Amino acid sequence: MYQQPLPPEYAGMGDAEAASRIRAAKQALGSRVVVLGHHYQRDEIIEHADHRGDSYKLAKDAGSHPEAEFIVFCGVHFMAESADILTPDNQIVILPNLAAGCSMADMANFFQVKRCWKELGEVTDTDRIVPVTYINSAANLKAFVGERDGTVCTSTNAPTAVGWALENGDKVLFFPDQHLGRNTGVRLGFDPDHDMVVWDPFKPLGGNTPERIRDATFILWKGHCSVHKRFTVEQVQAARAKHPDVRVLVHPECELEVVRLADHNGSTEYILRTIEEAEPGTTWAIGTEINLVSRLAKEHPDKTIFCLDEQICPCSTMYRIHPSFLCWTLENLVAGRVVNQVKVPEAVAAPARKALAQMLRVGVSRD
Ligand code: SF4
Repeated sequence: MYQQPLPPEYAGMGDAEAASRIRAAKQALGSRVVVLGHHYQRDEIIEHADHRGDSYKLAKDAGSHPEAEFIVFCGVHFMAESADILTPDNQIVILPNLAAGCSMADMANFFQVKRCWKELGEVTDTDRIVPVTYINSAANLKAFVGERDGTVCTSTNAPTAVGWALENGDKVLFFPDQHLGRNTGVRLGFDPDHDMVVWDPFKPLGGNTPERIRDATFILWKGHCSVHKRFTVEQVQAARAKHPDVRVLVHPECELEVVRLADHNGSTEYILRTIEEAEPGTTWAIGTEINLVSRLAKEHPDKTIFCLDEQICPCSTMYRIHPSFLCWTLENLVAGRVVNQVKVPEAVAAPARKALAQMLRVGVSRD
């Protein structure tokens, strides 16, 4: 989406000035505004967040403030769309920088998924396929899933959501992250070589034979997270060589080989809980976004915590929510102007809401 350039007074703004002006604007707006901050946001944004969380928690938090006129979502575009879908019409959802997207979400678009479904229908019975979309997807893909009685999932509830899908069908079409789909299937006891195929949207039948499609339980979209794909088996081995007592904790968007070698894997909220509950003096190599790892290291000085990737890996699209954008957004609200509203048309929102409601209904299994 197009982001208009910031006016010059914001474009050159330093962090200290932005922080004090954000605080003043929030104070002026009072309970009219709620600021949500994803864990991957930088500290200079998180300090202003009324709630922080992963996409699952923030989707729920967005719906828990009926008194607020404005929900300012410091995350990426699909998260703001989900918040808009889950909140009443009188609440306005704002993304401080419209250029904050998600490279993984962009790896599956509506036309590709529609074509995939049609091609699947030529070789197998799509009435027995349950589509499951990761929350990291555009609203029209959530609507596609809702129209076919599927569900949205997050990394927090993927095993529960996929388990539910397989009680309601014989196969799952999982998009857009093949790694979360594969790791979830393995966790549920499926064989990644026999029970799963990868669907490449640029090849006929996703690059598969009709027989392989018919045999498979999981059809995994060929997408990935550019941050979590950076973590490797070699990094895990290097961490263990350097710190013999290290425990390796990774996100399930990492590749299967990395997840298998790790001591623990789970969603962002699981990573937080694991570190909170860890014994003082323990050492942790974490495979997830660097802003979260750095914050955990700061908040838990009694433990040794470092990122598995020494080259560090911020989510470059999350990083586009600079404090100057948040300041610009809030000061416009104080002046009575709404900028950067994210609004999903009702024709898309209604079926997407059905898929999101299914996600909330299946709930969360404690990792
Ligand atoms: S960390 Fe990966 S999945 Fe999450 S918003 Fe960034 S690119 Fe998307």
